[in-house]
This record gives sequence, structure tokens and C-alpha cells, in this order.
Amino acid sequence: MQVPLSLHSQTFSRNVALMRSKATRHAIYGVVIAVVAIIIATVGSDFLNHGSISLNGLYQAQKENYVLWVLDALPFIFAFWGQYVSSIIAYEASAMITEQTEELRQQTMDLEHKVMHNSTHDLLTGLPNRSLLLDRMQQAIGVAYRSEQLLALLILDLDHFKEVNDTLGHYQGDLLLQQVSLRLQNALRPSDTIARLGGDEFAVFLSTLSNSKDIKVILAKITKVFSSPFVLKEDMPLNVKCSIGVTLFPEHGQDVDTLVQRADIAMYVAKNSQRDYLIYSSKIDQHSSQRLTLMAELSQSIENDELVIYFQPKVCSRTLDVEAVEVLVRWQHKKFGLIMPDQFIPMAERTGLIGPLTNWVLQATCKALKKWHGQGLQLKASVNIAVQTLLDPDLPETLTGLLASVDLPKDSLMLEITETSVMNDPELALKILFRLREIGIEISIDDFGTGYSSLSYLGEMPVSEVKIDKSFVMEMLNREKDAVIVKSTIDLGHNLGLKVVAEGVETKEIARRLGALGCDLLQGYLFTKPVPVAEFETWLTAFSVKKAEKRAAQNKTE
Ligand code: C2E
Ligand code: CA
Ligand code: CA
Repeated sequence: MQVPLSLHSQTFSRNVALMRSKATRHAIYGVVIAVVAIIIATVGSDFLNHGSISLNGLYQAQKENYVLWVLDALPFIFAFWGQYVSSIIAYEASAMITEQTEELRQQTMDLEHKVMHNSTHDLLTGLPNRSLLLDRMQQAIGVAYRSEQLLALLILDLDHFKEVNDTLGHYQGDLLLQQVSLRLQNALRPSDTIARLGGDEFAVFLSTLSNSKDIKVILAKITKVFSSPFVLKEDMPLNVKCSIGVTLFPEHGQDVDTLVQRADIAMYVAKNSQRDYLIYSSKIDQHSSQRLTLMAELSQSIENDELVIYFQPKVCSRTLDVEAVEVLVRWQHKKFGLIMPDQFIPMAERTGLIGPLTNWVLQATCKALKKWHGQGLQLKASVNIAVQTLLDPDLPETLTGLLASVDLPKDSLMLEITETSVMNDPELALKILFRLREIGIEISIDDFGTGYSSLSYLGEMPVSEVKIDKSFVMEMLNREKDAVIVKSTIDLGHNLGLKVVAEGVETKEIARRLGALGCDLLQGYLFTKPVPVAEFETWLTAFSVKKAEKRAAQNKTE
């Protein structure tokens, strides 16, 4: 961008000429006034001396009257003064022009520099942006070809950044990005290019790698950057991890595009397999392209009803009555078959599709409940709710509308939320939870014991159920620690007036032990794996028959 300097100097010259002509004009006025004064004074003097006016009298007055001589000098004084003042004005103005031109030139240079910097750097973190990174890579590749230098590109993507943004707000999200950028800059050498590619994606480009093993040292440095919590809102420490994909030049690609694309693929696979980093290899390519295709298809699949809900019963430990069902979603993919939620829920959460997905699940659940209620089967259904959905202020109204549209009692739906999603923004979460309770929708705390410890919050939260995570339940007969956690959670839940559910109940022994500990509801493969609606109905009938037979046999022996 160019500031039109010539325009400014033209304006200045015009202004100086204007001022100069003003000064000259006033000098001319002075001269005219002085001449008029001389004429009047000469005529007056002649008249006073001779009682009349004559040419000779005027000449005499001019010759003999000293005061008129002084007056005669005035036009010259005015003329000289006018010239003098206008010269000074011209001099001062030209000095001013020079000074201001210099200042403008400096401003222009600064502006050009800023424009140039902004087009190559990220405004939030001040790091080089994608285009500068690609430029530097292009140059380095050119040199590396000749010198056989090794290069490396690392693409870093923060895990669950969307959650941070959604729950803590964009301001805190920005703070986090700035802190990550600072930490990366402190950890790496100035010769390494650290760039922000956009969103929560960063890149590190190493142009001075002496040996491919050094990449491990760099990876260790970056992993260390994320080993201590980031402190954002109200001193709440936030553990943030990232997934890293790595490509090496010339091994994994010999041009910028290939290196970037493959580092991106390696990063995606690292993220989905919950690894800190992954160095590209051709094996992961196939796997990843399937992932990327899936990601693009999910939205359409929700609209096309390609999702299915499965049901798993929650059984009363004393009466063996099926009191409720947990609703678990699957994706019936045309090409890949049944896809489990672990394969697409995290992706849906990252891409914002979790909203439409949850809506779909809620609607399908209400449809099934409506049918069962019509048959006199008063089952309650628990739907899993991700943090973004829980913190959506419209959730209570959406649920009220949905239940009203199918004419189901409010307490037929329960929401399973995790401790972590509450801890992300306890204030907002509590507000929404209280609103849900007002409406009559119950809340269950899922995966209890695995998230941030929120024992102090548990007492305050309007929840009615706590679910012990299956990782503790499945090993409770083998690991003393797990048994202690299970027992204390049951006691804690009961002391707070909550129902306690154990998930992951796979054996009769575990079911018996849980019953003895007073656990209210049991859920697990012992009864059935999650199954589609028709299969669930068949299972339920068979289970009821078996239960009735057992009771009849018990009555007989008593
Ligand atoms: P979750 O909410 O903890 O669900 C329980 C998971 O444990 C289910 O896995 C279930 O199949 C499995 N499970 C139940 N009993 C046993 C058992 O005895 N042994 C073992 N080994 N596993 C058992 P699933 O269906 O694969 O779901 C995985 C996760 O996906 C769920 O964990 C939940 O977090 C998420 N998810 C499923 N459906 C939805 C949904 O509609 N919305 C959201 N937001 N998340 C969902
Ligand atoms: Ca659950
Ligand atoms: Ca669970």
C-alpha cells in the first residue's frame, strides 16, 4: 500500500504560496495606506500653511516638513517588511514540509512493514502463518536438494480445543493458544520455524536436522511443553495435550504439498489412536483416508437416518426388574458396516456434529419409548450427552419441546453426563442442570471416578444417579484398589441420596458382590450387550420369563 506522498507535498506548496500571497497582500495594503496617509498629510500641511492647495504648496510641504519625510519612508518599510515576512513564512513552511515528509515517509515504511508482517504472520500469536511457513519450506527444500540436508515438518493439533472454546469461551481459547505459542517458542531454537496454521493447529519446521534420530529429541521437548497444566480462567489449571504428525524430507515427500498432507494425515491418525505423535508411513495412509471420508459423510448420514440406537438394560440388583435402558448409538455405514461410537463420537464432538447427532438420538429414543409406553412397558431411557450439548443453554427447552411433541412424561428421559463436562464450566453447567431438574428430567453422572475429581460438586449438583465406571467394576474382584473405589462410591452415592449404577457387570460373581454392597442397578454383558430395539424386546421377554421361572422355583423350595 502506498501513501500518496506527492499529494501531501503539493498541498503543502499550495498552502505556502497562499500564505505568501496573503503576506504580500497585507504589505500592499500597508503601502497603499501609507501612500494615502502621505497624500492626506501633504495636502493637509499645504492647506494649513497657505490656506489653499497648489502644486507648489504641496512641493514646499514635502520639502520642509520633517514629519512628512518619516511618513514618506513608510511605503518602503511596509514593502520591505512584507517581503521579509513572506520569506520567513516560506522558509518555515519548507522546513515544516521537509520534517513532515520525513515523518510521513517513516509512517509509510512502518505501515508497509506492518502490512507485510500481517500478511505473513498470525495476528493472535505473532507466529509465522501458513503462507510464510510454506515459503520457508520451499526455500529450504531448494537448498536441501543440493546439500542433502534433512528436513522435518511437525503438525500439532491441540486435543479437545473445541471443548475449551465452547465451555470456557473464545477469550480463554485465545489465551490458551497464546500460551501454547509462547511455550513452544521457549522450548525450541530460534532457527526452527514455529507457525500457526489456523484454529488450534500449529506447525514446527526444522531445517537444521543433522540426523533423523534428533526428531525424537524435538518430540520429547514438545511433549514436555504440554506436560504441565495451562492456567486460564480463575487459576483453574487445564491439562491440554496435542497430537503430532511428522514427515521427513526427503523420505516422506520431496515437495511442500506432500510433506504437509502426509504430516496432516499422521497427525489425524495419532489423534484418533490417542497417541502423542506419529511419524508418517505409507501404511497409515489407507487407514486415514477412510477416516477423512467418514468425517465428511457423517453429517449426511445423520440426515439420511443411517444411525441406529442400541439399548442396554439397567437391572435392579435386588428384584432383577429392568428399570431403565441406556441408549447407545451406532452408525450403520453402507460400505464399512456397523461403526462403534468410539470411532465417530469424538469426531462429531470436534466438528460440531454432536448437536444434530444428539438430536437424532433423542428423537429415536422418544419414538421407542412412546411405543413401549403404549404397550404398558414403563421404561426410562438414559441418553449420553456430550459437554457441548450439556452447555447448550437451549437444551432444557429443546427437551421440553421434544417430550411434549410425543406426549411422554418428563421423567421418562434421563441424561448421562460426565464429571469432566460439568467441571469445564461448573457455573453454567449447574444452571442448566437445575433448569433440567425443574422440568423433571433426571441426570446421571457417567464414568464416575475417571474424570476431574468433583466430590465437592457432587453434593451440590441436582443429579439423581451416579454410574461407577466399568474400569473399576470389571476388575473389582481382582484389584483391591478398585474394590475400595466401588464400595466408597456406593456409600458416597447413598449418603447423598443418589441411586448407584455399576456398568461393565460381566459375571455373576461381580453382580453378587455389587448386590451385597448395596449397589442399586447393574448394567453389563452379564445381562446383554447393547442390542437393537427388536432384539432388546426379545431379550426382555426371555429375561422376564426366566425371572418368573426362577421365582416360581424359589417359591417351591421355600
Ligand atoms: P458409555 O456411556 O460409558 O457407555 C458404556 C459403554 O460400555 C458402551 O460402549 C457399552 O457397550 C459398554 N459396555 C456395557 N457393558 C459392558 C460390559 O459388561 N463390558 C464391557 N467391556 N463393556 C460394556 P459403546 O456402546 O461402545 O459406547 C461407548 C461410548 O460412546 C459410551 O460410553 C458413550 O460415551 C459414547 N456414546 C455412545 N452413544 C452415544 C450417544 O448417543 N451420544 C454421545 N454423546 N455419546 C455416546
Ligand atoms: Ca453412558
Ligand atoms: Ca460409562
